[in-house]
Amino acid sequence: MTLSEWLPLRPSTIHGRDESSGLDLETTVTTRNPRPASSAKTHAAFDLLHDPLTNKGTAFTEAERDELGLRGLLPPRVLAIADQERRVLENFDYKPNALERYIFMTALQDRNETLFYRTVINHIERMMPIIYTPTVGEACKQFGHIFRRSRGLYISLRDRGRIAEVVANWPAREVDVIVVTDGERILGLGDLGVNGMGIPIGKLALYTACAGIYPGRCLPVMLDVGTNTESLRADPLYAGLLEPRLRGDEYRALVDEFVDAVTNAFPGVLIQFEDFATQNALSLLARYRDRVTAFNDDIQGTAAVTLAGLIAAARVGGVPLGEQRILFFGAGSAAAGIADLIVGAMVRDGLAEADARGRCWFVDSKGLVVRSRTDLAAHKQPYAHDHEFVRDLASAAQTLRPTTLIGVSAQRGAFTGDVLATLAATNDRPIVFALSNPTSKSECTAEEAYRYTDGRVIFASGSPFDPVELGGRRYVPGQGNNAYIFPGVGLGVVVSKARRVTDEMFHRAAQTLAHLVTDGSLAQGTVYPPLVSIRDVSQAIAIAVAEEAYRSGLATVPAPADLTAATRAAMYEPVYQSNV
Ligand code: NAD
Repeated sequence: MTLSEWLPLRPSTIHGRDESSGLDLETTVTTRNPRPASSAKTHAAFDLLHDPLTNKGTAFTEAERDELGLRGLLPPRVLAIADQERRVLENFDYKPNALERYIFMTALQDRNETLFYRTVINHIERMMPIIYTPTVGEACKQFGHIFRRSRGLYISLRDRGRIAEVVANWPAREVDVIVVTDGERILGLGDLGVNGMGIPIGKLALYTACAGIYPGRCLPVMLDVGTNTESLRADPLYAGLLEPRLRGDEYRALVDEFVDAVTNAFPGVLIQFEDFATQNALSLLARYRDRVTAFNDDIQGTAAVTLAGLIAAARVGGVPLGEQRILFFGAGSAAAGIADLIVGAMVRDGLAEADARGRCWFVDSKGLVVRSRTDLAAHKQPYAHDHEFVRDLASAAQTLRPTTLIGVSAQRGAFTGDVLATLAATNDRPIVFALSNPTSKSECTAEEAYRYTDGRVIFASGSPFDPVELGGRRYVPGQGNNAYIFPGVGLGVVVSKARRVTDEMFHRAAQTLAHLVTDGSLAQGTVYPPLVSIRDVSQAIAIAVAEEAYRSGLATVPAPADLTAATRAAMYEPVYQSNV
């Protein structure tokens, strides 16, 4: 039989126009189908190789190759996963820059998730800055240009009225965690529209790497409601809708429809709202937090990781949380979330709420937030105190003499030498957290913070900084990375099947994280545990969160006899499963 005889015939319709009569014509012709027929067995073998959740690549065993019909489809030598990991690292190191490493790791994730997660977990300190901030910021900016393969679900404003249908297209019938964004405030980079999809993908990779949420039960979602960034709409490779952002009631209706669709399709699913612009972030959280299992990481996750850092800092600085005077530079969703959680913690420690609020001050883009201002959004008003208005941060620092300065403004360089020196002049151990991401937006570098405070600062940042050598001492700056918090909170919610995510759970998470910081870390200036211990950290946080869910009656499954063992058992491990 010749090849052309073997290829199956396929009818197809050709459209044309008869020039003499002016009529449109339709002709059905039979052509050779370019894709050859295949047996069910070879299809199944191919599916195994091409599904990233089942693919083992060169690690399929001899027995599997025979049993599954894979013999000949792979190079003959069977490799151990440790050898595959070595190859991944070799390629990783060979890439010329961080963005290329991101592209390489994303391709691995799309090919073989077990190997991807094994590599990420075993080398978390090298991998986290690539698969998440700061590199993910660059990847989002370039999203349409580096796009290879689709991951997750895109729901656009065109899908209004049929979002349930779109959600039904997702192949998994069970989903534990959704991370959703509308791309309007991606890190400190602003409105990146559909390009922001890199963030839900990256955050969910951290859920799996840090807390062992099974990768097949994670769903990244982009709500494409347009973008107001002209340069993106002018980019021929931009992958989203080319229209201005949907606003107002129509926007809220779309998000409502999305939340209804996913909570119907995946009952009890945890929804993490991520990188929405301030007003939407705050209002969506207020709308859903008492209706479904949802939280906002920029507000609540950031708050918990910052509170943990402050509790740990009090152990070295000697000033208890309730006696701190905290100045926030930036008064958006992160500042509001952090301040609210700090106030809650101070109240627990015995302060009256008004006194606790009086210890938190905001500077926004217009200046110090004071009561006489008439232009304040609702979330700033509880922090508008009686005080003379001052225009800039340096003046605010001089007049308020804060013990702690927290940067959440996305304004690179805002913590000038003057500002840092002012803190150093009035505190033995000033606390400075420059939390803005990515690195290019950080209010100061670690080196600047140590230099202008004679090395006395207790410093943490949002994106990682290398250790600093100064005056013969080595300082290791901590990273106030939300990844210390949200994966563990998520695991605790999944284990207890909690109906709601509460502030109390974030308090418990912060306390747990702070207690895991060793004296050795503190001595080096680090107020967070080392990233290499992140799975133990997440497990401890998950247990605390699940305990809280059981205590408060929010858990919907019976408490296991041994919560620690049940939590550990729920954590995905990146090891190949046997197929024979
Ligand atoms: P946001 O847009 O809600 O808030 C930004 C705030 O900065 C606004 O209040 C704005 O008025 C203020 N601002 C802008 N320009 C200013 C200026 N010149 N002077 C003073 N204030 C100014 O954003 P957000 O969610 O609050 O996040 C802010 C930053 O914090 C981002 O860079 C984000 O990446 C970072 N962040 C870090 C972490 C973390 O490290 N764990 C977590 C969340 C957010």
